[in-house]
Amino acid sequence: MPIEAKSLNEECGLFGIWNQKHAAYLTYDGLHALQHRGQEGAGIVANQNGHLKRHKGLGLLTHVFNKPEYLESLPGKAALGHVRYSTAGSHGIENIQPMMFTGIHAYPFALAHNGNLTNAKTLRKQLTDDGQTFKASSDSEILGKLIENNPKPNFIDRLKDSLNQIRGGFAFILMTPDSMIAALDPNGFRPLVIGKRDDGSTIICSETCALDQVHAKYVRDVEPGEIVIVNDDGIKSEKFTDNTELSVCSMEYIYFSRPDSVIRGVSVSRARHRMGQILAKEQPTPNADVVMAVPNSSFEAAIGYSTASGIPFDMGLVKNQYVARTFIEPTQSEREHGVRMKLSVVRPAVEGKNIVLVDDSIVRGTTSKYIVRLLKANGAKSVNVRIASPVLKFPCFYGIDIRTADELIGAHYSVDGIRKQIESDSLGYLSVNGLTKAIGHLSNNQYNGLCTAYFDGNYPTKLYDYQKEFDEEAKDLGLYKGMKA
Ligand code: SF4
Repeated sequence: MPIEAKSLNEECGLFGIWNQKHAAYLTYDGLHALQHRGQEGAGIVANQNGHLKRHKGLGLLTHVFNKPEYLESLPGKAALGHVRYSTAGSHGIENIQPMMFTGIHAYPFALAHNGNLTNAKTLRKQLTDDGQTFKASSDSEILGKLIENNPKPNFIDRLKDSLNQIRGGFAFILMTPDSMIAALDPNGFRPLVIGKRDDGSTIICSETCALDQVHAKYVRDVEPGEIVIVNDDGIKSEKFTDNTELSVCSMEYIYFSRPDSVIRGVSVSRARHRMGQILAKEQPTPNADVVMAVPNSSFEAAIGYSTASGIPFDMGLVKNQYVARTFIEPTQSEREHGVRMKLSVVRPAVEGKNIVLVDDSIVRGTTSKYIVRLLKANGAKSVNVRIASPVLKFPCFYGIDIRTADELIGAHYSVDGIRKQIESDSLGYLSVNGLTKAIGHLSNNQYNGLCTAYFDGNYPTKLYDYQKEFDEEAKDLGLYKGMKA
């Protein structure tokens, strides 16, 4: 995970399993492998003969399930789990998922969501005007409300109708009394995979690392616009829309997903390695003595840079993994204090060296400046920062918690301006083409199957409730200036 506390955070990890004795135990293990996707809260719903029961709480998974009786109290052969990081909604327990619904059909179901809806405000208003009340402030509750109030007699029809009303980035898993159902938005922004265990159980989860954790074999990715229905009759696939265009979030490869995960056939670790290799070609550093990584998410890119440039790699920075977390939105000084607590320097590796410092991204720039100063205070001759992704200058509306460009240093300064701000001797970024090349073309569509909107403002969908605000900000900050139309 990045050093900058709460700088770029993603909303949530999902794990569901069907046909497994006491399924909640394996769900716990699967969620453990997805903890990097959200540390704010966790929950599991178990399905025992059609009866849904839940335990959830705030904090890390181990904290929420810190007594054996919590998992013991969730028997049943199917379960659905969620780890949360909030991008929309407050930090209260009411926002912790899975959420549970019943509605006019008196048909209970649980729902877990990863992503962000771009028309949540409009839908929430419509539903509220219709007399609906919301328990939570996150947009995840909206799909549940739409389903539970849809008049169609069949649950899948209600779900399809509802999915066709929401917009944005979403991966959902639902648990009903007789099925586990997954759905992915028409662009497939967030990863969602299907796996099988030798004992016959079926798993659907956010990343393949969770399949590995529970000894399941990868079967395939869920497709954009697809609904996957798993029950005692087997697995069935349906579409809620054919109007799809794959554009997987490139940030999943750059930094969100675990390096041992594979998204749409591309290893996250190898993609990061290639980002570093291409970065070394695009942004060489003559006369450097050593390549170093900002731990931990930049290791592969730094090793890639070292391999391609021939400059040796060394560990100059060490991360303390055991820093206590805070769930309160940190102020800038708390953030800096957090970085100080997390990072230390191996002085003999740094002293007297011209350093290439590889990082995965620069968000606000305050952490980069702190690290540059730290390395110089430990005797570095020069610090040349190389970023294994393009300049981050646009907000994300599909599930990452940066909704305004104002927070991004790249929206305010040129590359040289950023260099001055972070006080490095030089600064170079990977190009958007380099990034796409490193990940590979996932599709022949206009996006090559990838969303790179964070970097080039090329949003694969309309922004609905956010469009007006974004257009104004883009104009004010001149975000598209000098860019290809
Ligand atoms: S805008 Fe950025 S973070 Fe958001 S989905 Fe696209 S690439 Fe991912």
